[in-house]
Amino acid sequence: MPRGDRRLPRRTCVHCGNVGDKASFLRIAGRPETGWEMDPKGRKPGRGIYLCRSAACVEGFARRIRTPKGASRWKMGPSGAALADRLASWWVSEDRS
Ligand SMILES: [Zn+2]
Repeated sequence: MPRGDRRLPRRTCVHCGNVGDKASFLRIAGRPETGWEMDPKGRKPGRGIYLCRSAACVEGFARRIRTPKGASRWKMGPSGAALADRLASWWVSEDRS
């Protein structure tokens, strides 16, 4: 932490570049070698991909990782499409009222 900053960790949405508190984002945890999984509570080990909890960012990111070029950005390979499916079904089931 630079200069003793003790505020909540800040994260950046990989889709739109929005910056906010870690808790306000959806986290996708994992590593290129082991694959990625959704981590809505932000507790899983590994690196994190952060997304706004908004349709534009969740759906936009899912669209990106369904394509080989988009998936290669996170070295997801063919598992990118499977993650996109899980992301899409999580998104429709999530209570956002
Ligand atoms: Zn975003």
